[in-house]
Amino acid sequence: MNALAPGLSWIDLHFLGKPHAIATAVVAGAGGSALVDPGPASCRDALELGLQRQGVQWGGVTHILLTHIHLDHAGVTGSLVRDHPHVRVLVHENGARHMKDPAKLVASATRLWGADMDRLWGEILPVPQASLEVLRGGERVDAGGRTFEVAYTPGHASHHVSYFDASSGVAFVGDTAGVAIDGGYVLPPTPPPDIDLEAWAASVARIEAWSPASIFMTHFGPVSQARPHLRALLDNLSTTASIVRDSLAEEGTDEERSHRFAERLRREMRRTMSDAQLETYGVAAQLNLLWFGLARYWRKRGVGAQS
Ligand SMILES: [Zn+2]
Repeated sequence: MNALAPGLSWIDLHFLGKPHAIATAVVAGAGGSALVDPGPASCRDALELGLQRQGVQWGGVTHILLTHIHLDHAGVTGSLVRDHPHVRVLVHENGARHMKDPAKLVASATRLWGADMDRLWGEILPVPQASLEVLRGGERVDAGGRTFEVAYTPGHASHHVSYFDASSGVAFVGDTAGVAIDGGYVLPPTPPPDIDLEAWAASVARIEAWSPASIFMTHFGPVSQARPHLRALLDNLSTTASIVRDSLAEEGTDEERSHRFAERLRREMRRTMSDAQLETYGVAAQLNLLWFGLARYWRKRGVGAQS
C-alpha cells in the first residue's frame, strides 16, 4: 500500500500500462472514505483493484473530490456515480455544468485527441445534478473522516480547486503543482484552453500559504519539499512560456512550432532523466499539446500573429 499519512494513501492507475503516470488519492476515516481524482474510465479496473487491496468498499465511499474535470482526473466519475448513486461529487462551479452534461468537454477533448479518445479515456457519462456539490473556493468540506479546506487554484484550468487536510498537512493540488515523475523535471502542464500565467502564480502562493507538510500531485504522488518544488514549477513555467512566445514569431505552422517545442523540451528533460522516465512524462502530459495552451494564452494578449 502506498501510504501518505494515517488514513491517506494512493492508487497507481497504470494509465496506458505505465506506472507512475496517474494517481488517485484515497482518504479513509471514521464515517467513510473519499477519493481525490478517480481518473479516466480506461483505468477503472486498476482503480477497483486498488480499492479492493486497501479494503475500501464502495458502500463506504461517500465523496469524490475533483480537483478539476480534465478526463485524466475525472473521466470515470459519471460511471462511478451511475453504479454507486449515493456518492457525492465535489467540483468547482465552473466545471459543474460539464460534469452534468459532458458534451462540450468531449467535443473539446476530441479536437485534441481525435480517434484516440476511447483508447485514452473510455466511456464518459454525465453526473446527475443531484449528486454534485458545487464549490467556489474558501469552503470547508467534511469527507473521509476529516475536514478539507478548499482553495480556488486556476492557472492550469479555470475550474481548478485544491484541497488541504490540516490534520495531516497534505495538500491535494491536482495539476497546479505540475507533473513530476519519480523526482524528475517539474513540468508545467499547459494544454489548452485555460492557461493563465498570473492566475497560476497566485494559485501557487495560495497553496504555499497552507505551509503543507506535503503536496500530492495526480502526476505523480507526494512531494514533501513543497517550496522548492513549487519554485521549480514557476521557473519552468516561465521558461516554457517564453519559448512559446518567441516561437510565435518563427516561420512555419502551429503544428511545426508545437513539434519543435516538444523536441526542445524533450532534449532539456533528457539531460537529467532516463528514456523510460521521459516516456512516462509523455503519457502523463502530451508534450506538443503544451505548446497550444501557452500559444493561446499569448495570442489572447495580442502576442504573435495567427497562422
Ligand atoms: Zn488537467
